[in-house]
Amino acid sequence: MSDSPIDHLSGADFPEQKIADFPEANSTDSSDKYALRSLSPSSMALYDECPKKWMYRYIEKLPDPPGVAAVMGSFAHSVLEHLMQLPPEERDQEKAREWATKTFKITRLTPEFRNLELTDEEISDFKKQAWQAITGLWELENPQEVEVASIEQHLKVNVRGVPFRGYIDRVDKSPDGLVINDYKSGKPTSSAWIDQSRRHVEDKHLFQVMLYAVALAEETGVFPAKTRVLYIGNQKQVSEEPVSEEKLADVTDQLLNTWEAVSADLRRREFDANPSALCGWCHFVSLCPEGQMKVLELVDTGKLKKEAPAHELINSWELPKAV
Ligand code: SF4
Repeated sequence: MSDSPIDHLSGADFPEQKIADFPEANSTDSSDKYALRSLSPSSMALYDECPKKWMYRYIEKLPDPPGVAAVMGSFAHSVLEHLMQLPPEERDQEKAREWATKTFKITRLTPEFRNLELTDEEISDFKKQAWQAITGLWELENPQEVEVASIEQHLKVNVRGVPFRGYIDRVDKSPDGLVINDYKSGKPTSSAWIDQSRRHVEDKHLFQVMLYAVALAEETGVFPAKTRVLYIGNQKQVSEEPVSEEKLADVTDQLLNTWEAVSADLRRREFDANPSALCGWCHFVSLCPEGQMKVLELVDTGKLKKEAPAHELINSWELPKAV
């Protein structure tokens, strides 16, 4: 019998829920696959990481199944989404457990979860870690004191000509104005992450949330007061950044730059590879010679992390002649 707290309550009815936050793709058909429809923070981040990876994901629409961390993050998001829609006095851990139990019954039937092929022991670990992430919210704030303005707010707006799409996890009301919140089950942004072009918002996660501030201001005319990232994973932390016109302008410029770069790549139908240590985790590395070269270089220098999935793939590659 599992000792996961998620199992201790049962629910008669399944909640209405969706598995959110998997990378969204633009809905192009094969006849116009090079016609860009919109950008979202996740697609923009992927393009910035590696245009070729973006091409595999959004143009070729190759499957990029989420790993355990992504499925777990999505599950925890979903539970918190439901919890925060309750009246404030009902937002306690018993309710969270109830929603977690109901939601897990659905999650375990999804293709994303089944693809993980977890053993019973791994499922038990999944539930324990997910529960830690869910209850991690109480380490960051008292959910009963939060004044929620909206949950999972869908944004569909043109920002200076760029069609922008996205969902905001949660918008709160505060005495200073609206606060845009994003839950993250991964690690906080490393201090090593530096991008000179993003001088006003250096934290890459806060940068994404600031994009939501731009879009919300554009759509509603309301200028948010603050952006926050709530890290509910192993490293509990709240990162926040006040919104200013300077930051919104800077983030908007970055959005325009990425839009122009994507549009240019689409016109020429070429997408540059940007090999990095992340190639070791890229789902498309077996299709990508530049990524394979990078992985082999990392192996040669002893820098490919032992947990990188690429270790399992190397023997199946036809090695480039130069190696
Ligand atoms: S393997 Fe590396 S270079 Fe190739 S698509 Fe993936 S991230 Fe980009």
